[in-house]
Amino acid sequence: MYSAGFYPYPTEEAKWGYWSRHAYVNGIEPEGLPLYKTLYNLVKEKPYFVLTTNVDHQFQKSGFAEHCIFATQGDYGEIQCKRGCHDTVYDAVSMFRQMNQAARDCCVPGCMVPKCPVCGGKMEMHLRCDGYFVEGEAWNRAAEYYRDFLRENRNKKVVLLELGVGFNTPVIIRLPFEKLMREQRNYSLVRLNLNEAFVPESLGERAVGINADIVKSIADIQLAVGKEQ
Ligand SMILES: [Zn+2]
Repeated sequence: MYSAGFYPYPTEEAKWGYWSRHAYVNGIEPEGLPLYKTLYNLVKEKPYFVLTTNVDHQFQKSGFAEHCIFATQGDYGEIQCKRGCHDTVYDAVSMFRQMNQAARDCCVPGCMVPKCPVCGGKMEMHLRCDGYFVEGEAWNRAAEYYRDFLRENRNKKVVLLELGVGFNTPVIIRLPFEKLMREQRNYSLVRLNLNEAFVPESLGERAVGINADIVKSIADIQLAVGKEQ
């Protein structure tokens, strides 16, 4: 579904017909999934922070606090100027709802096609898919919260719980986590990944990779934590 969003739609009406539906089905409509709720229960009593490349708002929906989440790649509920002419990001949730209701033959009416309020040009989903991604006010604030968290927890015992990060965009979470592991001797890394859970040998016993379905692994971890308490 994500790949289909980058089809060269013949009109803006068709493009927004697709994206409003996509955003609704994948981001706006679904409730927090059981896995995310289990994760939240695992960490909620402790200081935690979420760094994610996901854009589906699942962490917020499952109880995680907004000021403890840094979603680096955007959000299905937001739009921006296609050329990034100014750095404001616009909430589009209610617009997408209205588009979904008004769409006919997968196209939204021409009067509903959003236009940039500054340059008058086209608008785009707030997703990092080209060089025009806007890092707006909320994005920069979240980046700052993440830096604060790392600063405050330097030299403390921290678990980097890495979930399903493969080699699509490893420079955002996977490789920085390995760097943190080399710098912070009190950190440990739990890497959960169905196929790519291997960890560098140099990290020794502080790192473990679990090649399994994350739903199953997290349930096992929760069980083990419960027994310890
Ligand atoms: Zn513009």
